[in-house]
Amino acid sequence: MNIVLLGAPGAGKGTQAAMLVEECGLCHISTGDILRQAVKNQTELGIKAKGFMDAGELVPDDLIIDLMKERIQQPDTAKGVILDGFPRTATQAVALDTMLAELDRPLNAAVLVDVDFEVIVGRLCSRRMCKQCGYIGSVADGPVCPKCGGEMYQRDDDNETTVRNRLNVYEKSTSPLIDYYRGCNLLVKIDGDRDPRDVYTDIKEVLGL
Ligand code: AMP
Repeated sequence: MNIVLLGAPGAGKGTQAAMLVEECGLCHISTGDILRQAVKNQTELGIKAKGFMDAGELVPDDLIIDLMKERIQQPDTAKGVILDGFPRTATQAVALDTMLAELDRPLNAAVLVDVDFEVIVGRLCSRRMCKQCGYIGSVADGPVCPKCGGEMYQRDDDNETTVRNRLNVYEKSTSPLIDYYRGCNLLVKIDGDRDPRDVYTDIKEVLGL
């Protein structure tokens, strides 16, 4: 099963993807995570991407599409993928269709996790993540990861100015994909402003998992 998770930054795509991976064994591909790792390792991609990421802007399509072409061909994707944060533009969506067609894999659904923007601003400004295991929590978790004991930190782009810019970018560049996937009869909309476990139950139900 191959799924695109759609939704604004902070809608809970990463949290839902982590639950799907744990229970269903699908391969989670988050372009944001790959880019953050590249920035940390100061690779050529990371150096090119950092400025865009810090400003809350999108990294150029050609870099992202090259990254995804390589990632989606790796053996761990054969059972199915959950794409989190990709595609983010119409160009990326068309490129994804081509990649999947070449691999002879269908896209089964585009799940839109829908959350009001003001709720997202509050969520993202208090979001904290674990440096060690990637757990996504909040400031309420304190400095130590409740899952693995690792150090919790705040992403550089989780400040109010950058968050609002990321939401503007989402509105302009990514939200048109909702219509794109609706037109392909693949769109499923889920209310994401609830307890993550309830959101997850709905996602599993609509995907027939
Ligand atoms: P995320 O973790 O998905 O919120 O992504 C963090 C940042 O990485 C975004 O604000 C963008 O700068 C960049 N990024 C992640 N995925 C993409 C993508 N598919 N296209 C362009 N930029 C991306």
